[in-house]
Amino acid sequence: MSGKISFFKSVENYVDKAASYTDIPKGLVEQIKACNLVLQIRFPVRVNGDFEVIEAYRVQHSHHRLPTKGGIRYAESVDQDEVMALAALMTYKCALVDVPFGGAKGGIKINPSNYTVEQLQNITRRYTTELIKKNFIGPGIDVPAPDYGTGPREMAWILDTYQAFRHGEIDSIGCVTGKPVTQNGIRGRAEATGRGVFYGLREAVSYGDDMKKLGLTPGIAGKTMVVQGLGNVGSNTALISQLEGDVKIIGVAEREGSIYDPNGIDIEKLLAFRKETGSIVGYPGSKHIGDASAALELECDILVPAALENQITAENAARIKAKIIAEAANGPVSADADPILLKKGIVIIPDFYINAGGVTVSYFEWLKNLSHHRFGRLENRFHHNQFEGLVSKIEEMTGKTVGDRERDFLTRGGTEIELVNSGLEDTMITAYQQIRETMRQHPDIHDVRTAAFVCSLKKIASDYISMGIFP
Ligand code: NAD
Repeated sequence: MSGKISFFKSVENYVDKAASYTDIPKGLVEQIKACNLVLQIRFPVRVNGDFEVIEAYRVQHSHHRLPTKGGIRYAESVDQDEVMALAALMTYKCALVDVPFGGAKGGIKINPSNYTVEQLQNITRRYTTELIKKNFIGPGIDVPAPDYGTGPREMAWILDTYQAFRHGEIDSIGCVTGKPVTQNGIRGRAEATGRGVFYGLREAVSYGDDMKKLGLTPGIAGKTMVVQGLGNVGSNTALISQLEGDVKIIGVAEREGSIYDPNGIDIEKLLAFRKETGSIVGYPGSKHIGDASAALELECDILVPAALENQITAENAARIKAKIIAEAANGPVSADADPILLKKGIVIIPDFYINAGGVTVSYFEWLKNLSHHRFGRLENRFHHNQFEGLVSKIEEMTGKTVGDRERDFLTRGGTEIELVNSGLEDTMITAYQQIRETMRQHPDIHDVRTAAFVCSLKKIASDYISMGIFP
């Protein structure tokens, strides 16, 4: 937290600023901003022969669309304000990328590394039981997903607990997303947030006019990037940007420190090195430049904070030398740092747009769960045969032969992962184009965050108005 203003309040302030560019009635803006339901839970868990009281939350920020949706975080930083702010961001995020859910978020105030796997399983199952008791989980009610400190393993425990209580409920597998693929998950969900960050960034840097203002050339290839946090979001953003975008990763920060190599760091090798040694420090060819925040101050084209909130504050904002900040984490730029960075001409691509890939693919997973079949299963072979026939006919008519690789590409029917990734790519591109169009319509809006909030607010307001709740 910035110390001056709470995380939730800072989200509210951004919304108020954006609302001033719209004609949405004040009362409706207040309703959109308000958290609809806040569940605060305390439950005991047996840890090392003793009882420990665990503090946990689930917040449903907006019911304008149902179910509500948002990750569950395991972190010592968790408190009611943090969960409320993250739930609110989910509402604006879902609206921005046309995912038809209200926003929610959950949190358990623990450091997962202090517990054994068995203890974590007990905590997760007990938390899920509390959500079931209060009717705070279900495929049509509220659908959790992974966030900081959680992953497919925890989602599988949540599903199993839910199904034990709701035996026979036909859509029960849609009660949580981010599950392992073998447990009714979807291919591509694990890397979806990082992949979405890559697609969003690639779109943002593709506009010549925008890049010219930053003294950059359009195109993602060759851009330099610094990443903070090598967890799910950070590692996938870095890997995919490097492998598919030819981005040069020159700096990485993790809890143990920051490393720098102007020639580029091979992320796949760095991840293997960290797995083996427990640290990124000492990675061959790189220089150890300081603690976990040092890399944030490196000169680079794109800075990707992908750890936790409030990493760039009024204290270090003036020293940030990146041209673009992609907020892969939620709230990594504090409210008091935001104007300092904007004044320096830095473009901030806001969290609730750039990290929306996770909820987008969670939505695809939920759709898969409710339809009870894998995407592409019915039509894959049919399309393959159809395209094969077409290519053969063209070969026959032209007397030319299509090469094996081209033939494979042209006749593929679309597997689950291909369909998921193309749906994600389209979602990220479309949303960025909407944000840009808003900036074109409002020349007095100079930052991407405000424009993105305007897009979301208009969509949510239109939902309320069409429900007849507001005139
Ligand atoms: P994670 O637990 O997988 O990884 C977080 C990483 O950050 C860990 O490796 C941790 O060691 C590192 N870290 C913690 N403090 C650090 C510091 N001060 N400096 C450098 N590294 C630090 O979590 P995640 O799922 O990758 O989530 C990261 C952020 O992205 C969170 O803000 C989360 O809300 C947001 N997010 C996650 C998803 C998702 O699908 N997982 C979706 C949207 C947004």
